[in-house]
Amino acid sequence: MSEYLWHCPFCDTDQIVSSEGMQASFSDLTAENAEGPRRLVVKFVVCPNPKCRQFALDASLHLLTISGNRGYTGKHLKTWNLVPPSRARTFPVSIPRAVLEDYREACLVAETSPKAASALARRCLSGMLRDFWSVQPGSLSDEFRQVKGTADPLTWEAVESVRNTGLIGPRMESEGAEIQDSEPGESQLLIGLIETLIHDWYVNRDVRRKRLAEIKQIAETGRSEPAVPSAE
Ligand SMILES: [Zn+2]
Repeated sequence: MSEYLWHCPFCDTDQIVSSEGMQASFSDLTAENAEGPRRLVVKFVVCPNPKCRQFALDASLHLLTISGNRGYTGKHLKTWNLVPPSRARTFPVSIPRAVLEDYREACLVAETSPKAASALARRCLSGMLRDFWSVQPGSLSDEFRQVKGTADPLTWEAVESVRNTGLIGPRMESEGAEIQDSEPGESQLLIGLIETLIHDWYVNRDVRRKRLAEIKQIAETGRSEPAVPSAE
């Protein structure tokens, strides 16, 4: 197994995982059954970041193809995230508790109940819009409309790409947290949008604040110290 890029859910960084950091084993169902042969793959990934070194664990079910007396891993059917229990990321900044709870819960039920996950994800998006941009409460699409000219154009493109799928828009004009039919892929899209917006809004604001504090400190130190002769 060669190296591959992996996003660590614990330290929230992209990491290159080598073969030593990844361990997988499998168990086969070969007994006659209604569904046919199956293979369960259990995979550990250890984060190579020396400050983290946490492990992630998942189990995935695949079709099992048998040829001669050898079995081969076939089409992927389902994955269960065991450690951590969902794909929810950790963020290095403080985010309103209600927003974070909705996000984490949406991630937790994304596989088993996409409908509930989408409803939670929409409520989370609305919570972010009200907290970060102080929008007037309305339908989710209306709340997004209020930040249209103000949000960064690239961020807005991400919003638009999800809006164009109808997940934020005509189908949900009436109420932000209304429960609607939803496919797993749809809830994943909404969860992905939440992650993008947390990064673009909360994380970036924190980075800018820290930079500003540094500049202010440098400026103040510069003022209080005697002028350094220039090297001209
Ligand atoms: Zn890590």
